[in-house]
Amino acid sequence: MRDGDAIDEARRDMEVCNACRYCEGYCAVFPAMELRREFSNADLSYLANLCHDCRGCFYACQYAPPHEFNINLPQAFARLRVESYREYAWPGPLAALFRRNGVIVSLVVAFALAGVLLLTTELQTPSAVYGPHTGTGAFYAVIPLGVMIAAGLTTFGYAVLALAMGYARFWRDTAAGLSQRVDLSVWRRALGAAATLRNLSGGGFGCNDRDESFSGMRRWLHHAMFYGFVACFAATCVATVYHHVLGWVAPYPLFSVPVVLGTVGGIGLLIGTTGLLILKIVRDPVPGARELLGGDVALLLLLAAVAATGLLLLALRDGAAMGVLLAVHLGFVLALFLVLPYGKFVHGIYRLGALVHYAAETAPARSERVIE
Ligand code: SF4
Ligand code: SF4
Repeated sequence: MRDGDAIDEARRDMEVCNACRYCEGYCAVFPAMELRREFSNADLSYLANLCHDCRGCFYACQYAPPHEFNINLPQAFARLRVESYREYAWPGPLAALFRRNGVIVSLVVAFALAGVLLLTTELQTPSAVYGPHTGTGAFYAVIPLGVMIAAGLTTFGYAVLALAMGYARFWRDTAAGLSQRVDLSVWRRALGAAATLRNLSGGGFGCNDRDESFSGMRRWLHHAMFYGFVACFAATCVATVYHHVLGWVAPYPLFSVPVVLGTVGGIGLLIGTTGLLILKIVRDPVPGARELLGGDVALLLLLAAVAATGLLLLALRDGAAMGVLLAVHLGFVLALFLVLPYGKFVHGIYRLGALVHYAAETAPARSERVIE
């Protein structure tokens, strides 16, 4: 990680916190901090991505502004996280996309939508696009299956590759000095912390979004969004098995597994993203970082658009609007895949890396495990 104001500020904050240690029960950041006397750039990048932005330490801090020490750890770490997203992005030249994330997302969405709509009308007659289609293979009468598979696999495959490379770069940098082994028990603890968002609980009380009062709302909204996303992904996987293994062609009945998973997932995604967007508007801006806001809002809007168009497509799939809705939904999905490695989504990947690092460096020694 390069030197700069963000890293200097995070280092200063960590040195003050390491002397104070008042917040050590709040989250994993403080126990990890206490294992260190000095903070290298890689250490700070690791700690910044371990922070879940619950803001508990800001409202608890006796050195927070207007105190002259001006300790604002959530803000310092948020700024550093943006730097780390640019630092580890793959391929490197595309890291610049993080700087103007909101604009880039809007452009990608516009081009993806226009591209899919143009391709659809180019491949089909107007009656195929604007007429009603029902029964087996109705979707493929509008957009051929081969086109859907090629577009989906190309964009999703690229996103997975870029995210995996980003994770590898983050790990190589931040875990270079890690002496402990990363075994299955380490992964189990890290995945448990990620799945429950334990570090977003502010030591058990909840987040401080608006002020010093605690609330579990952000954690539950994040769960609704994340598990909604997972359910939608599972719906696609089940539908793939139905089509390619069992030979059952979409659209599927309302109470089939893919449709139920997609509906529950879409509703969860919509509730989670909408709630998180509202929280962004009403939350206290002082412990936040303006640099993150554009990327946060852009990803939430894009996820909400994917969910809303998917649910609308389901509701209106037997009508004449199905063709256009299918093209618009597919456009949003492709846009989402394309911007995944260059937007706020990467925070999940690096946070998982930081949780694995934390689980490894705080794992009980082998001899202690035997005694347990
Ligand atoms: S955030 Fe403030 S109160 Fe908490 S450990 Fe740091 S200096 Fe101490
Ligand atoms: S997770 Fe919460 S308590 Fe921990 S450093 Fe971040 S804002 Fe502070």
